[in-house]
Amino acid sequence: MSKFEWKYAAAPEASNHAKIDARYGLFINGKFVNPLSKKYYSTHNPATGQKLSEIAEAGEKDVNSAVAAARQAYEKVWKKMPAKERAKYIFRIARVIQERSRELAVIESMNGGKPIRESRDFDVPTAANHFFYYAGWADKLDYAFPNKKPKSLGVAAQIIPWNFPLLMAAWKIAPALATGNTVVLKPAETTPLTALKLAEIIRDCDLPPGVVNIITGFGNTGAAMVNHPDVNKIAFTGSTDVGKIIQKSIAGTDKKLTLELGGKAANIIFDDAPINQAVEGVINGIFFNQGHVCCAGSRLFVQENIAEEVIQKLKARMQTLIVGDPLDKNTDIGAINSREQLDKINYYLKVGKEEGLEIYQPNCKLPANGFYCKPTLFIGAAQSNRVVQEEIFGPVLTIQTFRTIEEVIEKANNIPYGLSAGVWTDKGSKIFNLTTKLRAGVVWANTYNKFDPSSPFGGYKESGFGREGGLHGLMPYLNL
Ligand code: NAP
Ligand code: MG
Repeated sequence: MSKFEWKYAAAPEASNHAKIDARYGLFINGKFVNPLSKKYYSTHNPATGQKLSEIAEAGEKDVNSAVAAARQAYEKVWKKMPAKERAKYIFRIARVIQERSRELAVIESMNGGKPIRESRDFDVPTAANHFFYYAGWADKLDYAFPNKKPKSLGVAAQIIPWNFPLLMAAWKIAPALATGNTVVLKPAETTPLTALKLAEIIRDCDLPPGVVNIITGFGNTGAAMVNHPDVNKIAFTGSTDVGKIIQKSIAGTDKKLTLELGGKAANIIFDDAPINQAVEGVINGIFFNQGHVCCAGSRLFVQENIAEEVIQKLKARMQTLIVGDPLDKNTDIGAINSREQLDKINYYLKVGKEEGLEIYQPNCKLPANGFYCKPTLFIGAAQSNRVVQEEIFGPVLTIQTFRTIEEVIEKANNIPYGLSAGVWTDKGSKIFNLTTKLRAGVVWANTYNKFDPSSPFGGYKESGFGREGGLHGLMPYLNL
């Protein structure tokens, strides 16, 4: 440590105000009920291993009762309710998320492992914003789709992953309600708590019973939702493998489907870019939320003549990143979500080394307990490396170089995924050239990981289809 570097004192966020019940039932028809399956499993804090609560495991009968509740609420109440009345409920949910934001942020960090700075400043406010935004659309659908007579679909089954538990629930529920559909939602097995907190909020907002049902469980619970004959729409965010299973299993039915799947985004730096700003953007792009981000900028492309400078600056910046307690306000990189995910990341670290790549990790100390991984660079990577082609979903960045714009477009696109990309350059013309040629749903220019409820998000190729967010995000929930 040089004399100009110093350590921050610990600044942990208090967690004693966060109310977590010892056990949660399933939220069906407006109340928490015991699962008919009679089964429960434990949910943990990945940063400490501490058990947080017991969670109901919904079986097929429980899925049936959730779908029946959603159907009844749809036919009897929600479908008939004037849109401006529906909007009031959605606004109310947004306001209560804001009111309870501190508790939600703390629980999100405790159950998922993400730094409190992110859950507090990004996840929770963005979730509230999605409800505000779609509340605004509810009574304006005829203006959004003139002469199309938009009609709701019915019951939506929504299945979400563990990387943005509350935010993904908001992305799914808000547009479904605004368009007049009712919902059965399942959070991922490792991160059920904020979805259950959202169920409490929905109950406290007096939403008519059955309009939103939140059930917990594993993959087979999700599969039972997908295969239920009375479901009209499936919205899934998760892995490409499960997305393919779902697509197969609904073939021949008239269920509507949107899939948000994996990614392996290219983040491209040209030699005319503001280098320091780009380095900061690359760091944010891959280490944000431990790299548990489908749109993470996990493949860095640097123009050859500036590669040395960029790599040296990346290393210096990584040396200052703070890895540790997710509840500490200074933490940059929190805990990996689960043992399973940490094993997967460590497996790819081994693969990258075996592929002969130069590896760089800062010499920081990791906490003794919990699931942690150092931020990692693989330098001198090639298009054929597995660590370049396959989704790692962790804080691991591969670095490739390029000389011309044609070369980088070809390399960036030569991958099964196409969710997002980033471009760093001083020239607007280069940005427009790239945005039209990169096969990615979102392209950020001179920034990264920026989200807004009004802008659509979604993939190409094996990253899925359909858009969430914005006016586009209404379409998958409507018959037009
Ligand atoms: P996952 O295993 O596909 O799980 C996603 C959700 O589907 C979970 O709730 C899971 O339940 C459930 N599920 C598992 N098997 C199922 C089946 N056969 N039928 C129906 N549902 C099933 O993915 P994950 O490991 O949680 O999340 C990581 C992946 O999600 C990454 O590949 C990432 O790229 C992708 N992702 C994509 C986006 C996007 O917007 N495109 C956003 C976030 C994440 P369990 O939790 O019980 O397994
Ligand atoms: Mg899974």
